[in-house]
Amino acid sequence: CSSTPIVLETGRTLIVGSTGFIGRFIVEASLESGRPTYILVRPCQTSPSKINTVKFLQDKGAVVLHGSIEDGGLMETILKEHKIEVVVSAVGGERVSDQHILVQAIKAVGSVKRFLPSEFGHDIDRADPVEPGVILYNAKRKVRRSIEEAGIPYTYICCNSIAAWPYYNNTHPADVLPPLDRFDIYGDGTVKAYFVAGSDIGKFTMKAIEDVRAVNKTVHFRPPANLLNINELASLWEDKIGRKLPRLTVSEDDLLSAAKEMRIPESIVAAITHDIFIRGCQINYKLDDPRDVEVCSLYPETPFRTVDDCFQDFVTKAFGVDLDKPTTTPNNNNNNNNNNILSSSP
Ligand code: NDP
Repeated sequence: CSSTPIVLETGRTLIVGSTGFIGRFIVEASLESGRPTYILVRPCQTSPSKINTVKFLQDKGAVVLHGSIEDGGLMETILKEHKIEVVVSAVGGERVSDQHILVQAIKAVGSVKRFLPSEFGHDIDRADPVEPGVILYNAKRKVRRSIEEAGIPYTYICCNSIAAWPYYNNTHPADVLPPLDRFDIYGDGTVKAYFVAGSDIGKFTMKAIEDVRAVNKTVHFRPPANLLNINELASLWEDKIGRKLPRLTVSEDDLLSAAKEMRIPESIVAAITHDIFIRGCQINYKLDDPRDVEVCSLYPETPFRTVDDCFQDFVTKAFGVDLDKPTTTPNNNNNNNNNNILSSSP
């Protein structure tokens, strides 16, 4: 791949799922990049945090449109009236199939230059987790096939794992602090995965949207510095909090049992955790399909945030200290000072 992006004239961007975990990163990056950004918000929001998110994004310049992608007629009207050129969907796992109606609306209108369906994980045509993970992947695979059959220009974003502690029973690990009592280590803890900051998922998604090299491609996020195993992740966090924690093994059988319980969404996360940290689904294939592109090859000049940076954010957010900033007493040993605070925290 050439490292010079050929920029497409794409502008008005509609983002579905802006109140969600991944969607908010996408909207913030879209606004940051200066694109005219429209967010589809389902009416009758009652959750205060979601209402606050919409207000926050609106204050930053997002245009709020009310509706659901289940209403195909409304989607056609929105796409036409606002001359939408790019649609990004970040609907959650349980609503992935709603996107078939959106695909039909995009096809009917015919003016959308790029559609990014709700992916933001693994290459679902390659990875093959145990049930119920595979049920989610089958739903996403069907959406891919309907986009391709409709002839809609697409980009599939495979950003791998979010940079946070990968709790196997938790759907949104980036909202939760890494462990302070003990680490659960999957298998022998040596299988590597890519951990990417949410803000970088948004930033590089925006770059791919306007890059002709990403049309009808699967964009893989494989920044070499962000490739870590869970033992390394644990050591990094221990360095941040200034103390060692016990490490307990969660075996392959433990993960498979959690998946078999078929509790949704927890068992889906257990199945995908098994696929990542036991089977190595992020690293056990080469990017040898003509549709594969790798984001660092596309944008070699743009750095990724490191996992160290992201863990520092957790420390700052949780304890109100920044280990990189000098303390008020100039002669203090900065790290020791802050580590004492962390050691006495819950
Ligand atoms: P969330 O459940 O956090 O958010 C889903 C969003 O979609 C909400 O804003 C919701 O709106 C909106 N939505 C759902 N249905 C509709 C509809 N019919 N019409 C309009 N809006 C709708 O999703 P996630 O952020 O967890 O998941 C997004 C994608 O990212 C998924 O594909 C998931 O698999 C992937 N993911 C990847 C992760 C990773 O580590 N790589 C981590 C987490 C997710 P409302 O507020 O009204 O409910």
